[in-house]
Amino acid sequence: MKSVLVSSLAVLLGLALSNTASANNVPQSAKEAGVEHAQQWINFLASDELKGRKTGTLEMKQVHAWLEQRFKAIGLKPLPETDSYRQEFSFEHKGNSIDAVNYIGYIDCRCDNDKYIMVGAHYDHVGQNPALKGDITFNGADDDASGVVASLVIAELLAQKESLPFNIIIAAWDAEEMGLLGSKHFAENPLVPLNKVETGIMFELVGTPVEEHPNSAWMTGNQYSNLFALLQDDFSKAGWSLDADPFAQMGLFMRSDNAPFALMDLTQQKAEQVFKHGQQADITGIPMHAISVWRGQDHYHQVHDEAEIIDVPNLVALSEVIADAIANLSADTKVVWKENPHFKFSRP
Ligand SMILES: [Zn+2]
Repeated sequence: MKSVLVSSLAVLLGLALSNTASANNVPQSAKEAGVEHAQQWINFLASDELKGRKTGTLEMKQVHAWLEQRFKAIGLKPLPETDSYRQEFSFEHKGNSIDAVNYIGYIDCRCDNDKYIMVGAHYDHVGQNPALKGDITFNGADDDASGVVASLVIAELLAQKESLPFNIIIAAWDAEEMGLLGSKHFAENPLVPLNKVETGIMFELVGTPVEEHPNSAWMTGNQYSNLFALLQDDFSKAGWSLDADPFAQMGLFMRSDNAPFALMDLTQQKAEQVFKHGQQADITGIPMHAISVWRGQDHYHQVHDEAEIIDVPNLVALSEVIADAIANLSADTKVVWKENPHFKFSRP
């Protein structure tokens, strides 16, 4: 019931939006134009034609061409000493070899700093289930087209700045749904020295705010580093809040693309050590976290995770807050691990 209400509201908002956009050729504000193209990006990524963006499927070639275009249009460069955005890899899955590709671009800070901040999300999702009746497509609009669009909007905003405190890596990861394989591949085969990566923010399900928590997002593993505190001021200045992880017991800190960087030597035994046996584990990694606005709604990994449920103006507003927070960091910002009961962290 809740989801039906939410989607009809989003449809109404969507209609209102397209009416304003086309009315009498009135020039749009930059904000309206930003929301309109973010909406088009969500519509494309979550369309039925892409059949649920499953890694290795034919339809993913369309997504690759699209990402290539977006990265180029924003003005992202391939990483230094590479000549393409593509980081290709393959893996075995149920006896088949599957080809996958991360898209990685960067924005030069036009400054003296040789360090990077990473921003990204996964563009793959879980595909289709032909055994279902009716809708068989898992569109993954919130998971994680919303995160990819947030990353692209942030990239666009940061690319327009005269200079930045850090170089920015923009990443669209593949094969997250098959076990964080894209981000894991980059962490194991980094195209920049990992000790030059100061921190990173990955996005997961940032498209569906709930009424009880307006203008708010939350961070996984917020107690583990000072990044949480570093971002909070900029959130509140913009009338937003950055909250603590409301689902700490779900271990989401270890279940998104930040995890391979944060927990580089994480083994299953270490996860068990921490969450089953309540012992501290020794971890060497980069303080990196995921940001989400999802509050437990039932569209997670369901066929009704469709473009209609995404609140695009809210998604763009959140992206603006984060772009400003990154741009406002000072170049000597150090993101450090904090003492906590679960992990004994050190940086690589
Ligand atoms: Zn996801």
